[in-house]
Amino acid sequence: MSAPQINRQAVGRKPYDPQDWAAAGSCRRDDVDPELFFHPEGETGKARQDRVVAAKAVCADCPVLATCLEYALARGEQYGVWGGTGEEERAELRRVERLRRRRVRVAS
Ligand code: SF4
Repeated sequence: MSAPQINRQAVGRKPYDPQDWAAAGSCRRDDVDPELFFHPEGETGKARQDRVVAAKAVCADCPVLATCLEYALARGEQYGVWGGTGEEERAELRRVERLRRRRVRVAS
């Protein structure tokens, strides 16, 4: 799966209404277990890794992937798989965006 395109303006922005797009998500299909997207209490190691990989596979062909990721970044979603990204990946995206904004402030 190629990296999703990120609307940098969405990071830290007030989230918009998910009703507009979430119903079109691949995770809403009847054959997809919604529990794939959030880790159960105490899940670690390979079980967690396998679940995240399976969730990302569902995201890979989702028609609203980019919107979902923008929403998660704007809302600061810390938990679960959103827009084809896991928790650590979104934390890294937020960190990079904070650094970018800091550099822009310093440069201006
Ligand atoms: S990108 Fe993934 S989590 Fe987001 S709506 Fe699509 S399938 Fe669901």
